[in-house]
Amino acid sequence: MSRKDLEASSNGRTADFGSAYEGSNPSASARPPARAPNQRAEVKSLPMPERFLVVPIGPVPKGLLAELGAVLQEIFGAPSDLGTPLVRPEFAYNKDRHQYHSTAVLRRLETVRPRGPEEPVLGVVDVDLFVPDLPFVFGEADREARTALVSVFRLKGSDGRAVPPERFVHRSRVEAVHAMGHLLGLSHCNDFRCAMFLSHTPADSDRKGAGLCTPCRTAIGRA
Ligand SMILES: [Zn+2]
Ligand SMILES: [Zn+2]
Repeated sequence: MSRKDLEASSNGRTADFGSAYEGSNPSASARPPARAPNQRAEVKSLPMPERFLVVPIGPVPKGLLAELGAVLQEIFGAPSDLGTPLVRPEFAYNKDRHQYHSTAVLRRLETVRPRGPEEPVLGVVDVDLFVPDLPFVFGEADREARTALVSVFRLKGSDGRAVPPERFVHRSRVEAVHAMGHLLGLSHCNDFRCAMFLSHTPADSDRKGAGLCTPCRTAIGRA
């Protein structure tokens, strides 16, 4: 699977993978992609929804969920409802990898839609996610299904050490905006300060703001 295959523009699904994955070209992540910065040619603009649904999957602190709902409203202008919590996704646990299969969790999340198929759903989980061929993913989004998943598991630390709570919250806010941005039609952005920049490490999320750059805002009609 190539990096390009994982772009939202190729099939509507995006896995946000971490630094351990270099694909078949070890230098790929160090070079700018061939695509021009902020090019949106393949992305069709989706209407801004009236509300979002945020669904905790397994134990997720209530305060963190409130932060995520607040940042989605701040950036996209729509309030969030808190969905009925789902239990920890043991059905997706891979005992060889000691990780949870992201796509399986995403599929389960798609069944939770009290307001119909148009409402974007963001699942928040505190377990380590993977997809086959990748060592781990920070999240996954399926634009067609209007469903995204973000894991806060790896955002809690850097280099094996826990980070201060405020940094963890910042990273979580940034990655929630990133995931929702995919559902609204955005793909990855080359501006490292923009929430749609692809984080390869949690430290990349530290550099990003929760906000979107001007071209990304323009692409979703929020400029
Ligand atoms: Zn992404
Ligand atoms: Zn951007």
